[in-house]
Amino acid sequence: MATTEALAEAIKKQLSQYEEEIKVDEIGAVTYLGDGIVRASGLNNAMYGELVKFQNGVYGLIQNLERDDVGIIVLGAYDKISEGDTVTRTGRIMEVPVGDALIGRVVDPLGRPIDGAGEITTTQTRPIECQAPGVMQRKSVNQPLQTGIKAIDAIVPIGRGQRELIIGDRKTGKTSLAIDTILNQKDQNVICIYVAIGQKQSTVRTQVETLKEHGALDYTIIVEAGPSQPAPLLYISPYAGSAMGEYFMYNGRDVLIVFDDLSKQAVAYREISLLLRRPPGREAYPGDIFYTHSRLLERSAKLSDDLGGGSMTALPIIETQAGDISAYIPTNVISITDGQIFLQSDLFYAGTRPAIDAGASVSRVGGSAQTKAMKKLSGTLRIDLASYRELESFSQFGTDLDASTQAKLNRGRRTVEVLKQKLHQSLTVAEETVILYSLTQGYIDDVPINNISDYEDTLVKEMHEQYNEIMDQITQTKDLPKGNVLKEAVEAITHNFITKLNHNSGSSIANNIANQISN
Ligand code: ATP
Ligand code: MG
Repeated sequence: MATTEALAEAIKKQLSQYEEEIKVDEIGAVTYLGDGIVRASGLNNAMYGELVKFQNGVYGLIQNLERDDVGIIVLGAYDKISEGDTVTRTGRIMEVPVGDALIGRVVDPLGRPIDGAGEITTTQTRPIECQAPGVMQRKSVNQPLQTGIKAIDAIVPIGRGQRELIIGDRKTGKTSLAIDTILNQKDQNVICIYVAIGQKQSTVRTQVETLKEHGALDYTIIVEAGPSQPAPLLYISPYAGSAMGEYFMYNGRDVLIVFDDLSKQAVAYREISLLLRRPPGREAYPGDIFYTHSRLLERSAKLSDDLGGGSMTALPIIETQAGDISAYIPTNVISITDGQIFLQSDLFYAGTRPAIDAGASVSRVGGSAQTKAMKKLSGTLRIDLASYRELESFSQFGTDLDASTQAKLNRGRRTVEVLKQKLHQSLTVAEETVILYSLTQGYIDDVPINNISDYEDTLVKEMHEQYNEIMDQITQTKDLPKGNVLKEAVEAITHNFITKLNHNSGSSIANNIANQISN
């Protein structure tokens, strides 16, 4: 009896080892080669998404499992692979290195440094594809992610863990909004990841310089897949970036990730899919393009307290053609995200920068994460803007308008003017609050349009110099101060500004006329 058991045990042991040997040795052969695509036979037990290694050391990712062969996307120099080459299973899903060592570095989608600043030593890796946290693992968004941009923080506020789409035509300031948001995270304890997908190398270099200049590289990772890279690398880059972000999120940290842009990633995926002979659907995109973007963006979340309360805020960017937000990819991503910031080229060229179309932009969850002060002010702001848009067409008729319409137009024009903001000029919560307070309480109504930008600078400067305790109070409570202190301060500064202005321009009739016209 005992010998039978021992025999059975020995056979079982042998069998288990035998299976393992097969796993290690599963080798296939390349049967077909295309643009960055390989078919290989003999990998019968391969898994979807598994990493494989070619004879020449290049890695590939299994994407299609078919009866006789598998389709593999090649993550590197595919021109060095020939038909008949061997390809070996690794038994692993693709992973990228993660950790603090990546901060301040520019890496490719495989996590390898491309900034010439030496090796990156990390001890941990994460799979590039990972299941998104479920409902029970999440918490609703409750903390603001300040962008430092008045128009966004007031009208389309973003909360930590939210997904907010930045959408617009070419050259409408999409990247600039994202970069300025990264700059504003200095000292906010937020790790930033900028994923540049198919962007010109020179552009990315400029962004890296900008980040460095403003000291933002100390908390930012740049993942770059240039336009000359094989499509598979462009396709996986946002997933790789997300994996790097998840490491921090699951350690209780706050992360901001920018995907610049997902249109180019979708085009890369379309290319791969067509080469893999998957049936093309609408606009020739494969049927699972929606899933491609949803499983990516679902990974950005606000985690529950049990999981450490970390968050990953995503700012995906989509480029539209001639402002068409109803095309396939734009509608997909709009429906996945929690809102969109729509940038209009008309506004951009008319000088309203950032060119945010307030009517078509929305943030569906950020409001609950807005500061108390901003929440109080932004209501009036929205109403002022909406009634201005309604009345704008009448404004051409000039003087025949009644006083209340005139007043609304006046306020509207000033609101548009105040919401303009120069590049890389982030404002703190207190600064945004006093400017918007002055606007919505009507103090700016007396400032000529041409002088508004100067007025804002003066207001901020004097508030810091003379009323610093009010600024500190706003920063701490995130609310408007009780009583009349803020009112009195803004009144005094505005009065001084206008008096000085009249005094200076009093001698110059030309100036006076110019101001009258702009009024
Ligand atoms: P692309 O389609 O090439 O990706 P984009 O939409 O990302 O373009 P940006 O590259 O951000 O646009 O901006 C285009 C140009 O407009 C840049 O030269 C930038 O400096 C300028 N610009 C963007 N925002 C502002 C702003 N608020 N004030 C002044 N100039 C701006
Ligand atoms: Mg751009």
